[in-house]
Amino acid sequence: MQRKKEIAIFGATGSIGSSTINIIRANSDKFSCKVLTANQNKQKLIALAKEFLPQYICIADDQHYEYLKAELSNLPIKIMAGKSGMQEASLIENDLTVAAITGISGLPIILNALTVTKYLALANKEAVVCAGELLNKLCKEHNTTLLPIDSEHNSLFQLLEGKKQQELKHITITASGGPFLKHEFAELQQVTVQDTLNHPNWQMGNKITVDSATMVNKALELIEAHFLFNLAEENIKTIIHPESIIHALVHYIDGSVQALLGSTDMRVAIAHALAYPTRIVQDDLLIDLTRVQQLNFIEADPLKTKAILLAREVIRQGGIKPIVFNAINEICVELFLAEKLSFLAIVETIAKILPQFSSAKIENIEHIFAVHDEVIKVTKQQTL
Ligand code: NDP
Repeated sequence: MQRKKEIAIFGATGSIGSSTINIIRANSDKFSCKVLTANQNKQKLIALAKEFLPQYICIADDQHYEYLKAELSNLPIKIMAGKSGMQEASLIENDLTVAAITGISGLPIILNALTVTKYLALANKEAVVCAGELLNKLCKEHNTTLLPIDSEHNSLFQLLEGKKQQELKHITITASGGPFLKHEFAELQQVTVQDTLNHPNWQMGNKITVDSATMVNKALELIEAHFLFNLAEENIKTIIHPESIIHALVHYIDGSVQALLGSTDMRVAIAHALAYPTRIVQDDLLIDLTRVQQLNFIEADPLKTKAILLAREVIRQGGIKPIVFNAINEICVELFLAEKLSFLAIVETIAKILPQFSSAKIENIEHIFAVHDEVIKVTKQQTL
């Protein structure tokens, strides 16, 4: 019998973390949980610890440490907490790491994890946006395979594997259009947090759900595709596809086009990454195209997709610009969720503050975080 793959999940209590857990639960002969982490959700982490008996768990918010220790005292699990605990957890050797923390706060974990794992299954797109070149370089140095979990990029990974770059014309990533696909731009003045969190196709964490509605998610994905697949900005197209059945397409110079289709369930992409280079059975996720019936494609409304145009400029300018773009958005989404900023102000603020920063070269890891912190400070000064 084959040894089980030992998995570390950073962000085990979130949306991607839970989908990963579901796959592990359904394939307990193939996978085991070695490390599980959460930020604050102690009850969910305790339940996961009891069910999967990982060797290590960590809660980033260290005020929950004593509670976890008391609740799990009779189990052979090492419990860690806080920043140092997360640091220690991210350096524990494993076969595959799932990086499913939201935002740049997941980046330090990823930079450690890629040195101790064989496969880095990466959902945390903000980390790729802020440190794409560095991640590619370090994965190469440590012989770690980077497997994107974002459905569009996982599809591109599958489509592009073994293909020759000179045979490509361009690639297309699809966007569902989010909850406001049918809204006129002017109607977006009024939308609330509740309207925004109501995504038609995908059940996701709050931050990415807001990003999907503002189209910043697609903008981040454009930058992510640029770094992961070494593609120039003009060779990455986007199209609105409300059914979200086709995730990405590859267009070849001879006119051939290959597309990757899959259910609107993140377990499809996650299972590909967990099982790579083999595949596992997921009968409940097979698509019946006679039920889908129609696949629609709509040209994006430039007013509603301004974030994508900004991302194109960010890629062209390079340097620290992707970090600046991401940081303005991270803080604006936080302010929007706290009802301190309107929906339309998110992209307006990105457009206003982005030109205030240069496109200086990224010097090192510390520089990435210093730029992020400076942008957060400036954005807060100009919004609050
Ligand atoms: P969620 O908000 O649902 O989950 C985030 C997870 O990270 C939770 O386990 C949370 O813990 C933990 N976490 C949050 N902040 C910190 C922190 N500062 N330190 C340590 N742990 C932290 O997010 P999603 O699962 O939706 O998204 C995760 C990432 O995957 C994002 O980058 C997103 O863009 C990307 N992604 C998500 C998709 C989806 O379908 N959800 C699709 C494609 C990409 P706790 O529960 O305790 O708060």
